[in-house]
Formats: sequence, C-alpha cells, structure tokens
Amino acid sequence: MSDNNLYDAVDWQVLTLNSEADTQALAEQLASLPLRGSVWLSGDLGAGKTTLTRYWLQALGHKGAVKSPTYTLVEPYQIEQDDGSMKSVYHADLYRLQDPEELSFIGFDEYLDEPNALVIIEWASRADSYLPPPVLFIDMTETDNGLRRIELRLSKIGQAQHLNLSTIKI
Ligand code: ADP
Ligand code: MG
Repeated sequence: MSDNNLYDAVDWQVLTLNSEADTQALAEQLASLPLRGSVWLSGDLGAGKTTLTRYWLQALGHKGAVKSPTYTLVEPYQIEQDDGSMKSVYHADLYRLQDPEELSFIGFDEYLDEPNALVIIEWASRADSYLPPPVLFIDMTETDNGLRRIELRLSKIGQAQHLNLSTIKI
C-alpha cells in the first residue's frame, strides 16, 4: 500500500491468465460489473492491455473491429444495450501523448465527464496528474513463461460504488 490515496484500495485480486481464453473470461466478468468512470490499464508493451480491452468491448456487446488507439489516442464506442439504450465506452492509449494538453484538444475531458460512460485507459501514467482518479486499476505483467499475472485493485471511488472484485474467478 502506498501513501497515495489513489492507491489505497482495500479490495484487490491477483489472477493468472494461462491463455487468451482466460483473458476473454476475465473481460466477460469485468463487463458484467456495473462499472462507470475510468479504468487504468498498466503494464509493458505486449502485456495484453489492448487484447483485454478488445474482449471487454465485445463482451459489452460491441460487434465490429476494435482498433488500437495508439495514434488516435482515443476510440469512441456506442454500444446498444438490451433495453435499447446506448452505452458509451472510450478506449484510450496515451503511450504517444506528448503533452497532457492534447487531451483537452481531443475533448477527452468531456468523455470523462459523461455520466455512466466507461473510459478504459492504457498508459494513464503519461497523464496521471491530469486525469480524475480511476474506479479500478488493472496491472498486467507477462511472466517468463508467457502467462499473464493480473492485479486488480479497486480505488476508493470503486469501493464507494460498492463494486466487488471477489466475484471474479478464472
Ligand atoms: P498491450 O496493449 O499491453 O501493448 P497487446 O494486447 O497489444 O498488448 O498485445 C498482447 C499480445 O500478447 C498479443 O499479441 C496477444 O495475442 C498476446 N497474448 C498471449 N497471451 C495473452 C493473454 N493471455 N492475454 C492477452 N494477450 C495475450
Ligand atoms: Mg495496447
């Protein structure tokens, strides 16, 4: 635990993903949580952040392709829900962010302010002091034998939303 409030999460889980099928299973369970606000995905290049997000968007009901937002910084999705309403999901990758001011140029603040939207952010560390604290932190590490170690940590905001990570099982 760090002194930083952001990281002072009481609810956390460590999982091992043996295959992409496990990553898909995790994505499906994440999609079933009533998440709103932002989720920060951290981990080295190739750890599986975009792959997890792709399965997550599909589990939320997105039908088409999921492009990596490496160059566009953010890709917006409007996903039709069973009740006919639309759910906004934004997938951001800030790896190539030069200056956090670029976030206001692309209207990122409005995405973050949108009620009930889910904003999944790879490389949030590029702009962490400019971003509101996330609901959930997901850290992915590729192990020496090619598996993925996943650490999920709920922030205080996530706890205030009464999210519960203990239901996630792989
Ligand atoms: P990142 O976005 O973290 O840079 P990517 O998702 O783009 O990483 O790439 C991860 C790569 O690792 C992909 O080629 C994917 O097929 C592969 N991979 C192998 N096993 C897994 C796994 N369990 N979860 C996610 N990706 C995996
Ligand atoms: Mg990526």
